[in-house]
Amino acid sequence: MSIIDENRRLEDIDRKFIWHPFTQMKDWLEEKPIIISEGRDCFIKDIYGKWYLDGVSSLWVNIFGHRKKEIDDAIKEQLDKISHSTLLGLSNVPAIKLAEKIIQVVNSPITHHPSSLTKVFYSDNGSTSVEVALKMAFQYWKHKGINEKNVFVSLKNAYHGDTIGAVSVGGVDIFHEAFGPLLFKTFKAPSPYCYRCDLGKEHPDCKTACLDKLEELFREHSEEIAGFIIEPLIQAAGGMITSPPGYLAGAKELCSKYGILMIADEVATGFGRTGKMFACEHENVIPDIMCLSKGITGGYMPLALTLATEDIYNAFLGEFRDLKTFFHGHSYTGNPLACAAALACLEIFEKEKVLEGLKNKIEILEEWLNENLNLRNVGDVRNAGLMAGVELVRDKNTKEPYDWKEKMGWRVAYHARDNGVFIRPLGNVIVIMPPLNISEQNLRRLLTVIKDSIIEITGRL
Ligand code: PMP
Repeated sequence: MSIIDENRRLEDIDRKFIWHPFTQMKDWLEEKPIIISEGRDCFIKDIYGKWYLDGVSSLWVNIFGHRKKEIDDAIKEQLDKISHSTLLGLSNVPAIKLAEKIIQVVNSPITHHPSSLTKVFYSDNGSTSVEVALKMAFQYWKHKGINEKNVFVSLKNAYHGDTIGAVSVGGVDIFHEAFGPLLFKTFKAPSPYCYRCDLGKEHPDCKTACLDKLEELFREHSEEIAGFIIEPLIQAAGGMITSPPGYLAGAKELCSKYGILMIADEVATGFGRTGKMFACEHENVIPDIMCLSKGITGGYMPLALTLATEDIYNAFLGEFRDLKTFFHGHSYTGNPLACAAALACLEIFEKEKVLEGLKNKIEILEEWLNENLNLRNVGDVRNAGLMAGVELVRDKNTKEPYDWKEKMGWRVAYHARDNGVFIRPLGNVIVIMPPLNISEQNLRRLLTVIKDSIIEITGRL
């Protein structure tokens, strides 16, 4: 069979058997699928040999691009030992080493704080790390003898994953509304979305009034609130919505004041994305629970961690018959190959001084974002480190958005794709999330293609 025939066969089989996530399959069936066969550095190659710059790190996970030698080697080495054994009733070497390392890394900005995160609970994707966090927080209060704390507070525009618990604390209507009847009750606080403020105010004159709203909720309902979940610094899947400075620290203060556990969902922001190892560090916040996944294995293996404080962990200690056990655990929990990959990633951060190396690239990105604010149909630009969004609008003066059915973000993304750059938008927001180790030259190339695509597509209307 010729290569062309084999490629066509793959396309047909894909259409026949695969149901793609977050994808209208009717559209997919009408398009020619891009099928990736190889990756190298920050590029991915399709079966026809065309290379694309991976502008979103393969859905925000491949922080060191593809085929990073140290991670390849770590997995190969672990393969020669064991690929999987369970953490239910057993332990394994890479899971132990990773737990020690991550606790060291997470606490390195502020060591020996009385409320440091000290315990690691493993699972295997961002959504499950959130499920774990919610169940942990809920049960913590039960073990403390406080039975009324049964409700969570989350933010509008929040995204914490696709399992039912994670969707319950989500706030992106287009993804979450359909499941309304299945979801548990939550309180929703306004999104700290300055460009489209729910309260109709302007930052900084508003003095971060969204925090006052959060406090109102806490004040009225603290007796029933178990926890507050937040994506620190930037609501990612909700549209790369950056919160105003001080919001995160202010929210943490309110949690402490009203006796509410803070769950920081660092699934998207963790591992250097925002310019620091974890987004919470920007505002010196130590949450009670922290969720980690995505970049943790450099995009090699599914792995997630839910970190908790000593106080939370201790609440679960008791006699066997007390039934204080945390009844939760997945088949792939603490998978040794994934933990070996994660350990290799943490070593790369140290050896290659990754965080220091981000500064110039963040500057390049910020300069580009500011320039793009001048474009006719760019309403807002925002970023936290190397995590950025460009919000396209039909009318800049009125902030009138493009109708989502027009698929403006997608049209820009398709244009970029034709020009060798892979990006995936969020509605009208163009997302830029390249691997952290992208070269400055490739970053500039990525940004040039995106800018040209925005100009070309919005200019046609
Ligand atoms: N939390 C956040 C902040 C996320 O951005 C995501 C995924 N985009 C998740 C949780 C869910 O992670 P996963 O897709 O691995 O379940």
